Amino acid sequence: MIGDQEHRTHLIQHQVMPHKHSHKLAKFYYATSELVQKAIETALQARVSWERVPLKDKFDMWLKAADLMAGKYRQDLNATTMLGQSKTIIQAEIDSAAELIDFLRFNALYAKEGTKWQPRSPEPNVTVNKLRLRGLEGFVAAISPFNFTAIGGNLAYTPAMMGNVVLWKPSDTAILSNFTIYKIMREAGVPGGVVSFIPSDGPVFGDTVTKSPHLAAINFTGSVPTFQRLWAQVGENLPNMRNFPRLVGECGGKNYHLVHPSADVTSVVNGTIRSAFEYCGQKCSACSRAYFPESLWPEIKEKLLSVQKELKVGDVREPDSFMSAVIDAKAFKRITGYIEHAKASSKTSIIAGGKYDDSIGYFVEPTIVQTTDPHDRLMTEEIFGPILTVYVYPDGQVNSMINLVNTSTPYALTGAIFSQDESWLTAATEALKDSAGNFYINDKSTGSVVAQQPFGGARLSGTNDKAGGLQYALRWTSPQAIKQTM
Ligand code: GLU
Repeated sequence: MIGDQEHRTHLIQHQVMPHKHSHKLAKFYYATSELVQKAIETALQARVSWERVPLKDKFDMWLKAADLMAGKYRQDLNATTMLGQSKTIIQAEIDSAAELIDFLRFNALYAKEGTKWQPRSPEPNVTVNKLRLRGLEGFVAAISPFNFTAIGGNLAYTPAMMGNVVLWKPSDTAILSNFTIYKIMREAGVPGGVVSFIPSDGPVFGDTVTKSPHLAAINFTGSVPTFQRLWAQVGENLPNMRNFPRLVGECGGKNYHLVHPSADVTSVVNGTIRSAFEYCGQKCSACSRAYFPESLWPEIKEKLLSVQKELKVGDVREPDSFMSAVIDAKAFKRITGYIEHAKASSKTSIIAGGKYDDSIGYFVEPTIVQTTDPHDRLMTEEIFGPILTVYVYPDGQVNSMINLVNTSTPYALTGAIFSQDESWLTAATEALKDSAGNFYINDKSTGSVVAQQPFGGARLSGTNDKAGGLQYALRWTSPQAIKQTM
């Protein structure tokens, strides 16, 4: 969609249901580079009138959209997320209902609060100072992932709410739910051209937007190599650009659970199972490496295995499915490659799961691997699938585990520590301060809530701009300081 116009190109694509890949769910059309270019021009035209719409009216549109999502369209959003992205009803609800609506409402609230601040005018009879928050000059490119419908909505519509015009490239595997958001936002009053919905081949979209002199920002969630490539392309094209584009991104993680010998085993086991396997481990925050003390290992292992046995893997439409399929053939191949590595290596053994089958859907069992090598690929590389790797350490080495956790991967997205020893918790929290943007004490590493745990990490996990927090909305403004002499 560019402005009010739908474009059908010869580049026909389909979204299939991951849990039944013979079933086509949606047909869509990739934009050509010329169409991306046209969308840039349309956006720049739309910007002129969008800028003039008062912030207050924009907030009203966002709140109206949130109400439509909570009411009239709740089932549409849930169904498109369940069938298209293979989320169970619980996982769909916390994404396309709760989190998406929270993003719209809280970002509007924070933007209202954040825009109230004004600089000091100590002698108002002489000088009045004001800060005017403008949208960025140019357009914003929003590139969103498949794993959260809510993230697509946030990446495209928070910049738009702050007065920007946006080209939104959704993930091919989340087309239907993301297009549902687009239509709801239009119904809530967002004019055509403010956000253009541009399904497209990643490199075609990336090349075209980074060559435009009008690129004002990229708002990205996805893989490290793609984000690095976008930075490099922006760098190459800087001499032709009118701005220094703002590059905001959330990339991967290799998130940890570090368990102290004093920890409560039941909460460790429940938290670890949920973090590692809900939505097949396809959350950026999923626990993928766990460090357990030798003294607790027999009890943890027994409980982990007995819960793992109960996790039903099936069609999302079966209400008792705990997990469904992974997103597509490429993910299936990558994840099962790690399972094959676990089978082949003498340092690792699969202690639960390990089977997979893509004859109907891309199904992979929740898999637990034990390794004797804390630097094995399974302990250091992002897998983005239902594999948990466990390293069991001698209790006396718990403090050297802190250093290992902190230094053995290039990521810093989420992490959790479990202990009932307050002084150890305090020391570990301090020592691990750079290891995670979202840090949990006696709780699992997933499930951040908008406005409660703003989300994002540093190092190679991204620019840590904290989606769902106060700073995020203001990131999409270009402030102008105005001094008037009276
Ligand atoms: N915010 C989500 C969580 O805390 C993860 C978001 C993501 O996967 O990017 O579980």
